Amino acid sequence: MRVFRTPLNGDNSRHMVTATFRFYEELNDFLAPARRKQEFTVPCARAATTKHMIEALGVPHTEVELILVNGESADFSRLLQDGDRVAVYPRFEALDVTPLLRVRDYPLRNPRFVADSHLGGLAHMLRMLGFDTLYDNHFHDDEEIVAIAERDGRIVLTRDRELLKRRAVTHGCYVHAMKSEEQLREIVGRLDLARSARPFTLCLHCNAPLHEVDKASVFDRLPPKVQVHYDHFSTCDVCGRVYWEGSHWRNMRRVLDGVLSNDEAGGT
Ligand SMILES: [Zn+2]
Repeated sequence: MRVFRTPLNGDNSRHMVTATFRFYEELNDFLAPARRKQEFTVPCARAATTKHMIEALGVPHTEVELILVNGESADFSRLLQDGDRVAVYPRFEALDVTPLLRVRDYPLRNPRFVADSHLGGLAHMLRMLGFDTLYDNHFHDDEEIVAIAERDGRIVLTRDRELLKRRAVTHGCYVHAMKSEEQLREIVGRLDLARSARPFTLCLHCNAPLHEVDKASVFDRLPPKVQVHYDHFSTCDVCGRVYWEGSHWRNMRRVLDGVLSNDEAGGT
């Protein structure tokens, strides 16, 4: 549908352009139902950028990996013109888009995370996999999370799309799943984390590295049964906790093995 353009001079409200959008894969979850998985045409404000319109339609910019305008790669600052056809692809769905220019030219290596205060379970499990993940249930303030992400180059994990719309947040993941284990599977799949996982190398409580220690050096801090049955230990320099491969460790191992082996399925 085209907007009929009346020849009124000096009235900026009439200087509208319309553009046709199509969003792919899980980006559709952010759209109004009638706009999902199909092309739709909307009026755009004069001088609206791709970023402005994508977010106005409900999709946080951090979720977007690639934008094609009339078939050519475009960045977030591209001004929309009348009749533009805009295809928007999600982050980390890299298979089809690798040869094309992305909206960001500095992918994060060795990903590190900051999780919002509702994602404690996910943060805990990412630490189990050895991924540096800041989390504090006293993060009540979005500003604090944004500042940490910017300072450390961390990926923001949240179920709050408004948080991901912040300009300062350059890398973020909207977490679709509700349960921690499903959330971990989703993030591992989307970010292709399985190969860089180093399970049981971080303290689950303080996110600090664990170091192997001699049994003798921790012996008097161990419960009697553990003194008898286990020989390999590691410890956290920050909190002093001692870890060994007990039943809790084996339960976590089982969860992680399931997540890491299923990562081929990816996404949600
Ligand atoms: Zn610790």
